[in-house]
Amino acid sequence: MGGRFELDLSELLSFEPGGGLIHFGGQRVLLMDPVALGLLRKELVKLMGMTAARGTFTRLGYAHGWRTAEAMKGAVPWKDESLWRRAGGRLHTLQGQVRVEPVQRRADEGPEPFAEAQWHDSYEAEQHLLHLGQSDQPVCWSLTGFASGYMSYVNGKPIYGTELRCVGKGDAACHYVGRPAEEWSTECTEVLRLYETQCMEGMLAQVTEALRQAERKLRAKRQSLARAGVTEDPAGMVARSEAMQRIINLARRVAKVDSTVLVTGESGVGKERIARLIHDESGRAHKAFVAVNCAAVTESLLESELFGHARGAFTGATHDRAGLFEAAHGGTLFLDEVGEVPPSMQAKLLRVLQEREVRRVGENASRKVDVRLVAATNRDLAEEVRQGRFRQDLYYRLRVIELKIPPLRERRDDVLPLARLLLAEAAERLGRRVSGLSPDAADQLLRYAWPGNVRELSNAVERAVALCEGTRVEREDLPEEVRAAPPSLVPTGNPQRLEDMEKHYILAVLAQNGGNRARTAEQLDIGVATLYRKLKQYGHPEAAH
Ligand SMILES: [Zn+2]
Repeated sequence: MGGRFELDLSELLSFEPGGGLIHFGGQRVLLMDPVALGLLRKELVKLMGMTAARGTFTRLGYAHGWRTAEAMKGAVPWKDESLWRRAGGRLHTLQGQVRVEPVQRRADEGPEPFAEAQWHDSYEAEQHLLHLGQSDQPVCWSLTGFASGYMSYVNGKPIYGTELRCVGKGDAACHYVGRPAEEWSTECTEVLRLYETQCMEGMLAQVTEALRQAERKLRAKRQSLARAGVTEDPAGMVARSEAMQRIINLARRVAKVDSTVLVTGESGVGKERIARLIHDESGRAHKAFVAVNCAAVTESLLESELFGHARGAFTGATHDRAGLFEAAHGGTLFLDEVGEVPPSMQAKLLRVLQEREVRRVGENASRKVDVRLVAATNRDLAEEVRQGRFRQDLYYRLRVIELKIPPLRERRDDVLPLARLLLAEAAERLGRRVSGLSPDAADQLLRYAWPGNVRELSNAVERAVALCEGTRVEREDLPEEVRAAPPSLVPTGNPQRLEDMEKHYILAVLAQNGGNRARTAEQLDIGVATLYRKLKQYGHPEAAH
């Protein structure tokens, strides 16, 4: 195991110089007085009874153990699961809650449980005896929960535990065993009930992930911006071009009122970012922003997804469930690809917007919802209305305010600042020391038309950062279609002869089409014979066959 395994408290603990923040394995922790916890326990037992208090402390410990394992995952590099298991006890000890001693089992003691430990000096037994006296049941509730939460995280499945012996009920030491849920026999359902895991694990994973994402985003943004020397709009968007600045200003003004907004523009232009901006700058910013892609949900599921359903409303509806409208209550609901909503749902959507209430599938009563709706589409909805595919009344409801985001090719001024920002972010994410673009690469990015818009630019930059051999992205690192983009028609240096210009342009388009003459001629709107003649004139090998 060596010294690396012997977790060192001074390595794991860190203090901010100014005080206020203590971190353990990178995660914020508190120094807590055990007597205060003892008093809380006494009060909870009085308020809720022994069993309910036990459940509360068990789940408190579980959350603590789970989060500790989660923090350790980022802080130490152990691969082996047995090391992780042993570390749990060591961490418990380091945090001052209990002294953990691994158990040497004799063969005659029955089958080995999944996890087992002897506990000494449990703070919890001490506090329980102090405030509530000796018990006829184990009392190290949060310690048991901690061990189970930690093991559950490490093993990726619920591990539940209990104490076979406890100082709190007069034993000489506490003795913990933990087993996977399915290995507990039925007489232990009481123990299992203390964990009520269904909601707990999902919720913990969710909260932790949300926290981590927020932290990571902030850190990455700060670092990458500093490194790239990019000044970014406070809304987290790059908008050097006038067209985009106009959109952002408009979005900010729109944010202040509660009207429904329709965001339009080609795929990949960043419609969701604008929707987020509207939410973040609105009075609803402290409530939920819920996004759903209407094209990604099947027609049959969309209704229950948006409006929720009652238990038994259809096969598989085993629980009552709130829909996204209810989840977004007080906040903003973003309906992406609203043009894909089928006609039957369009009518229901319209009714919700008019009445401001939803009815869950399989329920008769309606529920009031206070939701600001932002919808987006890359379709021409006016045209869809004319074709009879989209309801006109819904269209007018959605398009109270329309924000039309221009494609990237119409805001060339944004291409390089965006590319630099995306590059810095990708370098950070991929852990590569790539700090910029060569002038050739930058030129080429400006030449390309970006039919896939910001999303395509982001993919191209990420790929380039991954492939790049030096410290900056070269032209060769760009995707083939970007490399093949024909030179700009705007003269950069000395004006060229028209004839040379034509030659370069034709050859570039030919290269972009992978040598396909028919397609090249079609795109240039000239005959194949004309193209053939010109290639021959240039002495191009393509003219030879
Ligand atoms: Zn105990």
